[in-house]
Amino acid sequence: MAIQSSNPIAYQCCFCAQAIENVQPEPLLLTLAVDEDGEQVLHTHYACLKKALHPSVPLFVWSTESE
Ligand SMILES: [Zn+2]
Repeated sequence: MAIQSSNPIAYQCCFCAQAIENVQPEPLLLTLAVDEDGEQVLHTHYACLKKALHPSVPLFVWSTESE
């Protein structure tokens, strides 16, 4: 069994609404600048973000998945 994480917080993917395991490179964080003082942070799976982006958009995130 994997070693229990000291941080049991579960993240929810903003695209598929499924839980995100805290395994590199996930969770990915998307920060939205809401206004001058505020921001919203969204969490996403690498695969979900990649699927949502246009193929021409480079994504500088390492991944263990095979392309
Ligand atoms: Zn997802």
